[in-house]
Amino acid sequence: MEDKQIAAHKQIRHLLEEVDIPEHIDRGDASHAEFERNRRFLIEEQHLGCWRCGAMTDLEVHHLLEWSFAEKIDWAAKAKRVLLTFRFYSWSEAEAAKVTCPDCLGNLLVLCASCHRGVNEIPGQPHTGYGLHTETWPAWLGQAAIKDQDDDITPDGHVVA
Ligand SMILES: [Zn+2]
Ligand SMILES: [Zn+2]
Repeated sequence: MEDKQIAAHKQIRHLLEEVDIPEHIDRGDASHAEFERNRRFLIEEQHLGCWRCGAMTDLEVHHLLEWSFAEKIDWAAKAKRVLLTFRFYSWSEAEAAKVTCPDCLGNLLVLCASCHRGVNEIPGQPHTGYGLHTETWPAWLGQAAIKDQDDDITPDGHVVA
């Protein structure tokens, strides 16, 4: 029997996400020293571009384990399990084991603003588009692994390398 082909199509879903964000320190009031040190290390010393599309401009740093959850996170055990699984920069186990806070190196991922927050995709509509914070994980990650630039797959006006 021949494999059935599914034609390329756009899937539109209207997701309603309801997340219980725990009480936490306002990030604006928290120390940024470690974050700044690690941000500079990744972007200015290691010259890492956007992990998803390779862009070298408009770079931001994403917390794999979200900052707002930091005080509730089990950094000693569960966080290590998660971060050892998703080692975007092939951190050693020893490096992953050093992650004790959201701003630690092994918890950070360099992304361009579009791949991160998706802010550039639809003018006038912030927090939409193709960012890690605006798409579901299967769609976002799938776009990161396509073979070639493909207008049917890549987000409008944004090329995923
Ligand atoms: Zn990008
Ligand atoms: Zn983020």
